Amino acid sequence: TLFLDRIAAHNPSLNAFITVDRDGALAAARAADARIAAGNAGPLTGIPLAHKDVFCTEGVLTTCGSKMLSNFVSPYDAHVVSLLKAAGAVNLGKTNMDEFAMGSSNENSHYGPVKNPWDTTRIPGGSSGGSAAAVAARLAPIATGTDTGGSVRQPAGHTGITGIKPTYGVVSRYGMIAYASSLDQGGAFGASAADCAQLLTAMAGFDERDSTSLERPAEDYAREIAAPANDKPLAGLRIGLPREFFAEGMAEDVRAAVEAALDQYRKLGATTVEVSLPNARLAIPAYYVIAPAEASSNLSRFDGVRYGHRAAEYRDLAEMYAKSRAEGFGAEVKRRILVGTYVLSHGYYDAYYLQAQKLRRLIAQDFQAAFRECDVIAGPTSPTTAWAIGEKTDDPVQMYLSDIYTIAVNLAGLPGLSHPCGFGGGNLPVGLQLIGDYFGEARLLGTAHQYQ
Ligand code: GLN
Repeated sequence: TLFLDRIAAHNPSLNAFITVDRDGALAAARAADARIAAGNAGPLTGIPLAHKDVFCTEGVLTTCGSKMLSNFVSPYDAHVVSLLKAAGAVNLGKTNMDEFAMGSSNENSHYGPVKNPWDTTRIPGGSSGGSAAAVAARLAPIATGTDTGGSVRQPAGHTGITGIKPTYGVVSRYGMIAYASSLDQGGAFGASAADCAQLLTAMAGFDERDSTSLERPAEDYAREIAAPANDKPLAGLRIGLPREFFAEGMAEDVRAAVEAALDQYRKLGATTVEVSLPNARLAIPAYYVIAPAEASSNLSRFDGVRYGHRAAEYRDLAEMYAKSRAEGFGAEVKRRILVGTYVLSHGYYDAYYLQAQKLRRLIAQDFQAAFRECDVIAGPTSPTTAWAIGEKTDDPVQMYLSDIYTIAVNLAGLPGLSHPCGFGGGNLPVGLQLIGDYFGEARLLGTAHQYQ
């Protein structure tokens, strides 16, 4: 009950959880005890965790941070949820998030903003801000998240914990409520790379119910988590530093923390080399065409007919759709649906959507060129530390720009990790982002582990 008690004590001020499943957690803990007594425990048996409220959980409310799903109890578990259940992990509850994972600050939740445990006047990042705050405040040792454009790495950075988004297709999207299907990927939060490696190992795996799930042999993502053999454990590792990431736009306190971390990596034996991602600056415009386009299609299923919010009064079917959606979706979700339907509409498709897809290809090619010169890429996770709650809510474009370093990774489908690398002004955590080539998760985690 340690974590349940901590949740009871601290969640009222942090708002990290939407649902706490005390009874379910205690029952799962008893089952885990029995399994341990019987001698067939796995690495996560009895380990408490929290799921981002984007993952469907059988019998437990799944809201996706939206009024639209404020009454939705899923009849089935997401693939990730069933894998972790089978591993014996104990689900404490469902964490707060930006509505339908659209946001960078967790202020877009129907359930109110999450507070950053380091400074409760500040945002924790988003969209998986509840999971990140829960792990940072030790309300859960590990938590799941999803990352469509940085939503695992950015909140991990802002809350001083480690988070990894694997290669697209490694974690099944079955039962993970869709935002932008070609970008969405489940990920793991923990206090360390070693913890993330254990969680990711249990979450990953082929699932025939997700057509983009990759059929690959099971991997132990902790295989490169090892005690250093000597004082240069990273000898031979080439870390690429994208010129464009270090050029401008990064706050001075973030730059200082990132430079210090790179010095530490050099002390551990790694070498650094400048690389170039010339199209990375186009990642945000490309993303804000592709992601809303996919979202407008994915969110069409919320019509008030089969599940979710339905307006109380309506004259006919069309009005029921319109009123249910108008009432059920928040402002940011509506903005994205409007953008998405616009860029997909006849006459604009070639000008926007097709161009964005071309940029996406160029960005992926940039990374491939860079990985000919280095093994991993490093840079800041975000241009600034966590900002004040309310500071960017009136300016969506400012909010979008805060994801400048994370979004290109999703467009290319690459794995990315954020680990804490010190503090900026106001004692707020700074995240260092490590980007790997496809299926380089174990290398990223092993590298971060040597730093930690
Ligand atoms: N902040 C980005 C957005 O609002 C990314 C969110 C995410 O990764 N889910 O779309």
